[in-house]
Amino acid sequence: MNKATPPGPRLQPPVARPLGGFTLIELLVVVAIIAILASMLLPALAGAKVSARKVLCMSNQRQIALSTQMYGDDYEGNFPKATGGDHAEWIKAMIRAGYFSTLKIFHDPAESEGGHDFTELRKFRLRMPGRDEEAILSYGVNERLAGPAGIKMPKFQTVKDPSRIFFFGCSTYFIAPDWDHERVYNAGGPHPIGSTQNRPKKQHARHGSGSGSRPGSVITYVGGNADFETQEFIEYDLMWFPGDSRRPPSRNR
Ligand SMILES: [Zn+2]
Repeated sequence: MNKATPPGPRLQPPVARPLGGFTLIELLVVVAIIAILASMLLPALAGAKVSARKVLCMSNQRQIALSTQMYGDDYEGNFPKATGGDHAEWIKAMIRAGYFSTLKIFHDPAESEGGHDFTELRKFRLRMPGRDEEAILSYGVNERLAGPAGIKMPKFQTVKDPSRIFFFGCSTYFIAPDWDHERVYNAGGPHPIGSTQNRPKKQHARHGSGSGSRPGSVITYVGGNADFETQEFIEYDLMWFPGDSRRPPSRNR
């Protein structure tokens, strides 16, 4: 009898691997994992950029607040004032008096954050000691402090409750009138001339307009404290002067 060995499982020849070392399935799995990770990380990165710009903006505003407080200390408590012909005069007055050596702190890094970029609108060439400097002026001051008209509180010591009264912040123009909160809450977009009915728009917010973050502006108060405030807060709760009653009574809280 021919004692043949029983047929066992036949050895399969090794699967040929493509040159790159991955099969198509493996490659697809890796691509899918990368896509999932990217979808998780990219919004976080965008949010981190928004946060970083808020911090830089706040740092700018702290320096402007300190300089303005020093100006007040040296000029009997007075705020620098704008004029009817030149709303940037409050900034120019401080330059002439030597409180700013550069205008870079007036440039909010969030100017071009969202879908709108109005840096050209806010680009100005100002006379600095010994030279001209081109700058992007991103901040606006409370007209009740700096004018050009309707000043209620001309000096630091005339401001009651300074930690709650708006000093300056991310704004469409250099001056932010109290009847016109939208210059602050729509700080990323151009202020429509003659309109006071332009409700807060997420896409016009200076900060947070290009991401899932809450839209709003960085606000510095007369007391020197600064915070990021939402458009809703700016519309309803931000005070230009004590007893500021612009807030609609019908607001549902
Ligand atoms: Zn800002």
